[in-house]
Amino acid sequence: MDLGIAGKRALVCASSKGLGLGCAEALAEAGVDLVMNARGADALEAAAADIRDRFGVTVTTVATDITTEEGQAAVLQAAGAVDILVNNAGGPPPGMWSDWTRDDFIAALDGNMLTPIALMKACLPGMIDRGWGRVVNITSQSVKAPIAVLGLSNSARAGLTGYVAGTSRQVAPHGVTINNMLPGIHATDRAVSLDSGVAKAQGLSLEEAVAQRAATIPARRYGTRAEFGAMCAFLCSQNAGFIVGQNILLDGGAVNATL
Ligand code: NAP
Repeated sequence: MDLGIAGKRALVCASSKGLGLGCAEALAEAGVDLVMNARGADALEAAAADIRDRFGVTVTTVATDITTEEGQAAVLQAAGAVDILVNNAGGPPPGMWSDWTRDDFIAALDGNMLTPIALMKACLPGMIDRGWGRVVNITSQSVKAPIAVLGLSNSARAGLTGYVAGTSRQVAPHGVTINNMLPGIHATDRAVSLDSGVAKAQGLSLEEAVAQRAATIPARRYGTRAEFGAMCAFLCSQNAGFIVGQNILLDGGAVNATL
């Protein structure tokens, strides 16, 4: 399928690894020039070089923490006028409701709610002026079905979801769409870190923890970053202009709900 976005320009945040990288790769395959970001420069440069090699698109890199004001300013400066914005950042750590402090909540809100909102606020006016734009926010399955130990994530992502629900309707008249992608478990470093916590708590090996989790998923496996990226590229395509303010769950059937 021709996604019709070759030659467009995308900012993909937190994209040296994992789901962000999957989105960057799929957009590059569709011919989109990229601005990629992560904190660690080495993995970022390696990912960018690989994408340039495989897809022949232009890739600009900005090694910075996207959850800081300085990081956002540096990325936005390098990005310039973007047609596509993919918002992503690391997720908050797991824990227990009774331990979380105000500072923990502020950090989670900064990372997973206020950062994507700030980047949307910066990029949407240009998209509206040009009459075309696509924003995809990577959130989590936990927006639909809470994961108790990820209460910081549940809270911050619910806030972002509420913001997108209204704002997507305000920008839709201008040819700009905003949608959220809700990953269930995917085989990334984040999954290794979550599974390592489970393994430690339950006295299992990492392999046993992975097998135990996979057995609870109707698809009986973890998602891949390529599958995730393909959906992101579709939501950013010309074909997806009528998809507005949606929350697309990619979870192998893990959330047991009819709608
Ligand atoms: P990952 O494999 O750990 O990759 C995270 C990527 O983001 C890396 O490139 C990392 O590079 C970058 N990054 C992290 N914090 C950053 C920051 N503050 N500024 C800039 N770059 C940053 O994680 P993932 O599995 O792709 O997860 C992506 C998001 O989806 C997270 O918010 C996660 O909570 C959520 N999620 C994931 C799953 C899953 O199963 N994988 C499920 C539900 C939700 P640096 O470390 O070098 O910065």
